[in-house]
Amino acid sequence: MFDAALAAAVTRTEPDPAKARQGHIQQTEIVRDLFEGHYESAITVAEAFKDAVLGIGVAEAVDGEIVAFDDTVWRVPVDGIPVIAEPQQGLPFAVVAQGGVSITEQVAAGTDFAGLTTLIDEVLKAAGQHHDHLVAAIRVDGTFTEVLLRSEPRQTPPYRPITEVLDHEVQFAFEIWAGTMVGFRFPDVNDQVVIPGLHLHGLAADRNSGGHCHRGVTAVATLRIWLDDADIFVPMTGVHYGM
Ligand SMILES: [Zn+2]
Repeated sequence: MFDAALAAAVTRTEPDPAKARQGHIQQTEIVRDLFEGHYESAITVAEAFKDAVLGIGVAEAVDGEIVAFDDTVWRVPVDGIPVIAEPQQGLPFAVVAQGGVSITEQVAAGTDFAGLTTLIDEVLKAAGQHHDHLVAAIRVDGTFTEVLLRSEPRQTPPYRPITEVLDHEVQFAFEIWAGTMVGFRFPDVNDQVVIPGLHLHGLAADRNSGGHCHRGVTAVATLRIWLDDADIFVPMTGVHYGM
């Protein structure tokens, strides 16, 4: 199940005083299972998002994108209209950040996701970290232009691979969009365990739109970064991976 490349690509953090600043990330299930079409529930919203600072995920049967912050978990189904997720809502995949102390940065206007990734990596470097050696939790609040969000239709068994599901994704484009994007800057590793790079889900300030964020350019935005260690929990095998 597990590619040892992940273990080689990341460094286990030894306990030290700086650790007190660190939060913790738990990812449930690995990306390969999602790619192969395992959309059955592995964990509930109540279980996954207990004490969450923020998090992202996908609903059982791919019935919407999950985005969580400020003590609320939202589900954005294929119509693009967010609803508050039920505590018993099942999730085949979730990544949740808990605890930690964030670093705040203002983001220059006109910063796209590539620029945001560069900024995050600079903040990590200034903190003595490298983006391939940890998972950073990310929150961006503000006003954006050229925002492209997506959700996808609920699936019925037998489930198709995620790439085929995403061939039928529904996109929502906004010239101007105000809201919050949360997620993670994962290591740049194609290990089938984590989704590499920057991965954000959004929720509009007016709560009328949201979803997985394909694109966005900052107008006025504030970035918060948490430097976190991470656990990857695979309920089907009962295995834990540290990173
Ligand atoms: Zn996503």
